[in-house]
Amino acid sequence: MADSEMKELEPLFSGEALECRRPLVIAGPCSAESEEQMLATARGLAADGIGIFRAGLWKPRTRPGGFEGVGEAGIPWMRSVREATGMLTATEVATRHHVECALDGGIDVLWIGARTSANPFAVQEIADALAERKFRGPVLVKNPVNPDLELWIGALQRLYNAGVRRLGAIHRGFTAYGTHLYRNMPQWQIPLELRRRYPQLPIICDPSHIGGKRELIAPLSQKALDMGFDGLIIESHCNPDAALSDARQQVTPANLKHILDGLVVREPNGTTESLDMLRRQIDKIDSELLDVLNRRMEVSREIGRYKKEHRMLAVQPARYGDIMDTRIQAGETMGLDPEFMRVILSAIHEESVRQQIEILNAPSIHSR
Ligand code: PEP
Ligand code: MN
Repeated sequence: MADSEMKELEPLFSGEALECRRPLVIAGPCSAESEEQMLATARGLAADGIGIFRAGLWKPRTRPGGFEGVGEAGIPWMRSVREATGMLTATEVATRHHVECALDGGIDVLWIGARTSANPFAVQEIADALAERKFRGPVLVKNPVNPDLELWIGALQRLYNAGVRRLGAIHRGFTAYGTHLYRNMPQWQIPLELRRRYPQLPIICDPSHIGGKRELIAPLSQKALDMGFDGLIIESHCNPDAALSDARQQVTPANLKHILDGLVVREPNGTTESLDMLRRQIDKIDSELLDVLNRRMEVSREIGRYKKEHRMLAVQPARYGDIMDTRIQAGETMGLDPEFMRVILSAIHEESVRQQIEILNAPSIHSR
C-alpha cells in the first residue's frame, strides 16, 4: 500500500480544546524533569488556552554525560498533566521501546526528533511499531538535522505507509558548522518546497530550536505565520533558567502568552481584486524577466562561439569579478540586497559558463 503522494491525510487535531487558539500551539518544557515542574508549567499554559503539552522523556544528547531525560518515569507525570488540565500530551520517540511505553502510557501525540529522522532504519523501526499498534496519529516528524528534503519526505512516507494518517511535519532548522545567529539555520526554502509538493501536509514551526534563544522566538514565529505555517511548537518551562536542557531558549508560560498575543495572524486565502491585479503585474514582469534572461544566454552562447574560435578559456575571472562588483553596486542604489544580487548573479554566471563549455566541447566542422 505504498503511496508516495500521501493523499489520504486526516486533520491532525480535532476537538474544541484545540479550536480556541489560532494558530495551533504546542508548548511545554524541553524535558520532563519532575511532576511539579510539569504541572506548574502545564497549568500556566492551559490558562492561556494552549491545548497540547509537549515534554521530552527520552532526550537525545549530542554527547554522553548530559541530562538524558527521565524516561518511563515521566509517563505518570504526563497523565497527571492530562488529568489536571485536559491538555493532550506529546513526547519524542526514537525507538520501538519508546513507542510502546508512550502508547501504553496514554500519550496522545508522538514526534520524531531531528537526529532520528535522519536515520531511515530508526524511522522504519518506529513505523513498524506504530503499525503493530494501529496508531493513526497524530505523529509529527521533525526535519532531519541535515538539509535533506528527500530524507524528510522519506521519513514521512515511512509513517504514512505504516498507516499513520494524522501526520504532520515540524520545521526546526538545519545544523551548520560554526557559530551563527541561529542555533539551526532556518533555510525556509526547504519547508516551503515540502509545502509545494504536499500541500495537504500540515507544517508546524519550532522557533525554539531554530533560534536557540528566547529573543528569537517572536520574530521567527511571526515569519512562520506569514509564510503560512499551520502552527507553532514552543518550549516553555516554569523556571527556564533552571531547566536541565535548552535553558536559553525556554520561556515561562506568561512570557509565551505575551509572545503569542503579539503575533499578527493574517488571513490564509483572502484575495481581493487589487491583489489579483498586482499578481497579474507580477506575471507580466516574470515573463519579461524570462525573456531578458533568454536574450542574455543567447549573447553568452555567441561569446562561447567566439572563445572557441580563438581558443580562449570559458571563464575569465577578471571579467566575472567586474560584473559582480558593478551589478551589486548598481543594485544597491536601487535598494536591492547585495547578498540577493550575489546569489542571482552567480547563478546566471554558472549557467552561462555551463553553456559556453558545452559549445567549446561540441564537435565542430571547422576544428583543426
Ligand atoms: C526537542 O524537541 O527538545 C528536541 C530534542 O528537538 P530536536 O529533535 O529538534 O533537536
Ligand atoms: Mn529542546
